[in-house]
Amino acid sequence: MVSTQLLDADTLEKVFADVFKAEAALVRPQLMSGTHALTVALSGNLRPGDELLSPVGSPYDTLEGVIGIRETKGSLKEYGITYKQVELLENDEFDYENIKKAINDKTKLITIQRSKGYLPRKTFSVKQIGELIAFCKSLKKDVICMVDNCYGEFVDDIEPTEVGADMCVGSLIKNPGGGLAPTGGYIVGTKECVDNAAYRLSAPGLGREVGATLGINQTLFQGFFLSPTVVASALKGATLQAGVFEKLGYKCEPSSNEDRHDIIQAIIFGSEELVVKYCDGIQKAAPVDSYVTPVKDDMPGYDAKVIMAAGAFVQGSSIELSADAPIKPPYCVYYQGGLTYPSAKLGVMMALQKLYESGLVKLS
Ligand SMILES: *Cc1c(COP(=O)(O)O)cnc(C)c1O
Repeated sequence: MVSTQLLDADTLEKVFADVFKAEAALVRPQLMSGTHALTVALSGNLRPGDELLSPVGSPYDTLEGVIGIRETKGSLKEYGITYKQVELLENDEFDYENIKKAINDKTKLITIQRSKGYLPRKTFSVKQIGELIAFCKSLKKDVICMVDNCYGEFVDDIEPTEVGADMCVGSLIKNPGGGLAPTGGYIVGTKECVDNAAYRLSAPGLGREVGATLGINQTLFQGFFLSPTVVASALKGATLQAGVFEKLGYKCEPSSNEDRHDIIQAIIFGSEELVVKYCDGIQKAAPVDSYVTPVKDDMPGYDAKVIMAAGAFVQGSSIELSADAPIKPPYCVYYQGGLTYPSAKLGVMMALQKLYESGLVKLS
């Protein structure tokens, strides 16, 4: 029998490192969101005068503030870290020619966002990410390749750390928390990168040695154990969403019969009204707060108003049934999660019901 005393913080980090086939892991409740984990990973590994490169176009909205693409107090830019970005080609492929031009003496870290996030682009497979990393390292052997792994965990059979990523970073209230983790984030990768991040999270010289677990370790273990099954339910739900809304004539990314590389389903509605009704339907199917009507509002870190449908057991959790949409063209909803397939299916049915009742969608 396994003693629950084995469910300690060191063991949790060993389990994460083992699963991600990495040297080390930092898995802490003190990493308070995905954005925070990414900030810690970046600022722990970059120094003044270094350059950060995104070879995959714009990073996630909140990172614009972190990097200083949008003027923000305390950004990497304020600390003398410069930034370059290479856009994707029209078919969402990597622009190798311009990536080659962008990598220079100062390039210290390359950040690759696996998931589409809030952009209507394709999500990269781990295999594609591996090819990109190999290319970058062929030009600069010691450049640090970091993958923003949010929403991608356990969708492919392998993780980016298995194809050359020096660091993979994500949030525990998305996939790897399995719906149970109440907070937290993770950074896995080489011992050097993880140690550098830990010195930033706590203090130089202290690093991974400090930090209370606040009694949530068992939950983090159990959530990680459930995560692949929960991710499978979410994927099934997303596929159903795509199947239904494609039939109604809306463009879905990915389409219902495409390979999936994250749990997000983008549905392009093309109008604010449709987006709002859809989100209302998702909210009505939530296990918690189903009586609430979501409304658009400003969100720190996002440039447009955002509407969010979520009635989650864990506040802010997006491995639970949820949908978000920035209120701007092309009026695209990003649906994700569902702890069980039946609850995800109810989400599809309620969204459809709301659209039908409002007369915006006709069912023949
Ligand atoms: C959610 C997400 C983040 C930010 O995570 P938060 O926990 O919301 O701060 C960063 N990158 C991607 C791709 C995400 O999906």
